Amino acid sequence: MQPALTHSKTSQDIALNEVLIRAMCHYRQVNYYYIKCGHSDPKEPEEIHCEYTSCKFSPNHRTDDHKCKEMCWQSHQFPQQFTRQIDAYCPACVASGQ
Ligand SMILES: [Zn+2]
Ligand SMILES: [Zn+2]
Ligand SMILES: [Zn+2]
Repeated sequence: MQPALTHSKTSQDIALNEVLIRAMCHYRQVNYYYIKCGHSDPKEPEEIHCEYTSCKFSPNHRTDDHKCKEMCWQSHQFPQQFTRQIDAYCPACVASGQ
């Protein structure tokens, strides 16, 4: 008898996690890392919105009379952070003539 493959379960777990991350409003923060000088330049976090009517922060948040605190999602999800590597000098180094 062949042992059951576990790959499908793992990829399903990741997919579910990605759906959850996309599902609710959260902040996304991108950090630019400049390879040539080794400096990094964190950008202002941007707010990513969901489309749910049951999320307090959604642009589609319901406007009818409802018990918002009991019925709606009341907080942002954990922020996502990305690092983008750029093969160049950072703006500060470029400005100072490097
Ligand atoms: Zn939302
Ligand atoms: Zn609400
Ligand atoms: Zn630099």
